[in-house]
Amino acid sequence: MGFCYGVRRALRLLDEFSQRYGKIQTLGHIVHNEQVVEKLSVKGISPVNRIEDIHSSVVAITTHGIGPRVLSELQSRSPQIVDTTCPWVYREQKAAKRLAEAGFSVVIFGDADHPEVKGVLEWAGEGGRVAQKLSLKHLYDRIPLRLAILSQTTQNPQVFKEFVRKLVDEFLPSGIELRIINTICDATQRHQAAAIELASTVDVMIVVGGKGSANTRRLAEICLAQGIATHQVETAKDLQTSWFPGKCRVGVTAGASTPDEVIREVVDKLKN
Ligand code: SF4
Repeated sequence: MGFCYGVRRALRLLDEFSQRYGKIQTLGHIVHNEQVVEKLSVKGISPVNRIEDIHSSVVAITTHGIGPRVLSELQSRSPQIVDTTCPWVYREQKAAKRLAEAGFSVVIFGDADHPEVKGVLEWAGEGGRVAQKLSLKHLYDRIPLRLAILSQTTQNPQVFKEFVRKLVDEFLPSGIELRIINTICDATQRHQAAAIELASTVDVMIVVGGKGSANTRRLAEICLAQGIATHQVETAKDLQTSWFPGKCRVGVTAGASTPDEVIREVVDKLKN
């Protein structure tokens, strides 16, 4: 649980570059966790939401990546770019671009408002769509003859499987060419499997992570789906004593952007 490979890599890169160049602005939050963002601000690394607000000479792309339009706009403004796009997101972007160039309409199964999905959608070009429900019908007037399906890196693998199964049942008989790539990242799959295993052995689950973190929210949903009382907290301060009467065993897991010390504080408070 806790920081994944992509987040550790991004923080290491930012650390290296801030020591070399000083102030860095990040286009969006480097990860969706307030405690991480606060710590970075002490080192002179701060987020901006819009390209227009960039005034630093060094800009960082977040782990969620960006699309080609935003990238070229950024390149035209900033002399130095630190790219912390997670390699798993980069793989998804490359797949979207390659499939779109090969004539496929690319569907990304994920949250339309998430920065990763927005970026991948740009790489997918005109035929790109985001599917948030388990159906394609509302996305196209006519289902394209060549259809490629990708997933947001932090989706629930079971739900993605269900989506794919539905597509195959519904559209394969009509003769369309279907290409499916599982672009859910390794860390997400391991975190979710571990959370399910843990949830089956405890009375209540605590999921630690930022409110805006998609993978943290997904962990909480998965634990809840196991029929276990589940609470998501950002820090130890959010724990409520009313959650624990009659509960003997408490399980703790954390999102991929949750710092170790925040997890430790939650565990310490639970023990005391
Ligand atoms: Fe990369 Fe997965 Fe971590 Fe996202 S959750 S930063 S895709 S390793």
